[in-house]
Amino acid sequence: MLKGKTALVTGSTSGIGLGIAKALAEQGANIVLNGFGDTAGPQAEIAALGVKVAYHGADMSKVAEIEAMMKFAAETFGQVDVLVNNAGIQHVAPIQDFPVEKWDAIIAINMSSAFHATRLALPAMQKKNWGRIINVASIHGLVGSADKSAYVAAKHGVVGLTKVTALENATTGVTCNAICPGWVLTPLVQKQVDAKALDMGLSNEEAKNLLLKEKEPSMQFTTPEELGALAVFFCSSAGNNVRGVAWNMDGGWTAQ
Ligand code: NAD
Repeated sequence: MLKGKTALVTGSTSGIGLGIAKALAEQGANIVLNGFGDTAGPQAEIAALGVKVAYHGADMSKVAEIEAMMKFAAETFGQVDVLVNNAGIQHVAPIQDFPVEKWDAIIAINMSSAFHATRLALPAMQKKNWGRIINVASIHGLVGSADKSAYVAAKHGVVGLTKVTALENATTGVTCNAICPGWVLTPLVQKQVDAKALDMGLSNEEAKNLLLKEKEPSMQFTTPEELGALAVFFCSSAGNNVRGVAWNMDGGWTAQ
């Protein structure tokens, strides 16, 4: 379905971003990976799917590096047809104790980077009259949780940016939508499981169950593969007129 197209997924060396990159590669898209940590492993996993893969290590908190990454993607593969704004971090603390540098980093990485990558990707998509922008927001783009002020503010911002991007391109072949996962057992969430286990003297399994029980009636984690399938749907022709939605995959979190 995406043969000959190029997808750039930010924060795709791990977790949800890697899951979405693999799902898009399975549809034939060439992939530009981004993110920290092990980069060779993810590149090999994508290459094994029979598509071209490139990597750029831009720090998504730095505008000049985002600009360099978008230029690199266009130079390497011609243009970006599918942009997945996924890179994100978390920090948990009450507002009065929230470190100012963590606030700034979360707003920059989780929200402003989506604006920068979007503004740089749009002109080529508009010229071609086809494009898909998928913002990995969160259920925290729709509801709040205590101790996550920066994350919740950034993710609500991403949902707002999604709507405006969709509206500004509504008469074109460029769509923009957000994915709002509940709990997904990635390194980002494992850190929260570890903190709960330590605080409350629980085993890993008990802490995971408690995390789920607090929020998700399904008592199941959403998987990167399920989120990848939703991204593929947004890229399909069935998604041509899906514009500006914030689509939860949250085990019933927000149905309550
Ligand atoms: P993860 O920690 O597994 O992956 C985060 C990715 O972002 C990694 O590739 C990391 O290297 C990259 N990254 C971090 N800081 C970066 C920076 N400054 N520049 C470039 N890349 C950077 O986490 P994840 O759970 O896969 O999270 C991915 C996205 O999904 C995030 O936006 C997160 O907020 C969102 N999300 C996660 C969950 C969950 O339960 N895990 C739920 C809802 C939304």
